[in-house]
Amino acid sequence: MRGVLEREVVPHISEWEEAEAFPAHRLFKALGAAGLLGLEYEPAYGGQGADHSYTVILGEELGRMGCGGVAMAITVQTDMATPSLHRHGSHELKQRYLAPALRGEMVAAIAVTEADAGSDVAGIRTRAVRDGDEWVINGSKLYITNGTQADWLCLLARTSGAGGYRGMSQIIFPTGTRGFSVSRKLSKLGNGCSDTAELSFTDARVPVANTIGQIGRGFQQQMGQFQNERMIAAYTAVGAMDAALGRTAGYLRERQVFGGPLLSRQYVQFRLAELAAEVDLLRHYNYACAAAYTRGEDTTRFATIAKLKAGRLARAVADTCLQFHGGFGYMAETWVSRYFRDSRLLSIGGGADEVMLQILARMDGFAD
Ligand SMILES: Cc1cc2nc3c(=O)[nH]c(=O)nc-3n(C[C@H](O)[C@H](O)[C@H](O)COP(=O)(O)OP(=O)(O)OC[C@H]3O[C@@H](n4cnc5c(N)ncnc54)[C@H](O)[C@@H]3O)c2cc1C
Repeated sequence: MRGVLEREVVPHISEWEEAEAFPAHRLFKALGAAGLLGLEYEPAYGGQGADHSYTVILGEELGRMGCGGVAMAITVQTDMATPSLHRHGSHELKQRYLAPALRGEMVAAIAVTEADAGSDVAGIRTRAVRDGDEWVINGSKLYITNGTQADWLCLLARTSGAGGYRGMSQIIFPTGTRGFSVSRKLSKLGNGCSDTAELSFTDARVPVANTIGQIGRGFQQQMGQFQNERMIAAYTAVGAMDAALGRTAGYLRERQVFGGPLLSRQYVQFRLAELAAEVDLLRHYNYACAAAYTRGEDTTRFATIAKLKAGRLARAVADTCLQFHGGFGYMAETWVSRYFRDSRLLSIGGGADEVMLQILARMDGFAD
């Protein structure tokens, strides 16, 4: 796994970051051929049929590679846009959309967020109205990763007049459909090479047969899919933090101040040791989460805590690593400034820290 990423991604990171783009189809084909895009999925659709521990390894290795943008794009394909299709989709839908995604021949995206509905998913307004055997879709989606290159979206839309979280469905939306357009490609603080877009739908028609699972159960299915997103985010964060602390120690061993290496300073050693200890705690919490998931248990609480802790710890690790690199770390082209920028997303995307706390407060009986 590490060898494939070192060959297919690492040599291109600077070039892709500068271009604010990476070739998703070319890269995903190479990853698909190596069997990395469908680790846990059924072999009948081209998956590897492996258990969840392989997904933990994938996440850690993606984090270790040192490019948040590509790591996010890949995990959208493997753990954010496809779990619902695999879990609830019809055989025909899986053959048509999941199998090519696992081979890396199709790029997938998850389209939930809208301009007025991010944390509060129940506020989405994109509507799919039934006309015979077709949905007629109108609306827009914002901040969609893989958005300009995707061949299909796992789209969350309102399919009935019922308000709030009721009456939504997940629909496979092929981006070649008439009425679909990319309104804007967005520039970002971090994850520079990932492809983030605003998408628009105007009387776009797709078959009702493209609905994933049950009509009207989209919100609940998406909440399940979010658990996979939060778990892979926490696994990836551990790999990235571990690598960042290691690389920082390597730099401090060489960097001389006041007549000796920076790493000889006890303050520096203790700070790195303390953060490494916290990363270790999260790593083993992740492993407990993965074991519970493998046993078929509900991992909502595990995934929520892991995502919350990962976001907060990554901010501390990135800040410390940058601080210890001094002015060199502040330069835009260094890996550590990229890590500092990339890691900030973890506390916002896939449910902000405060949304994680809201879930925990409810689950643990602290909310009225
Ligand atoms: C780079 C990037 C990639 C993304 N990729 C995708 C994608 O592929 N698909 C997709 O659908 N979405 C994607 N998103 C959207 C992402 O999931 C949302 O940005 C996120 O859920 C937060 O929603 P929001 O931006 O609307 O913030 P808001 O909902 O406006 O929240 C703003 C802030 O308010 C605070 N807050 C929110 N709720 C509460 C609360 N209950 N109590 C207290 N404070 C609260 C938090 O600090 C939060 O950051 C992406 C976002 C980014 C930045």
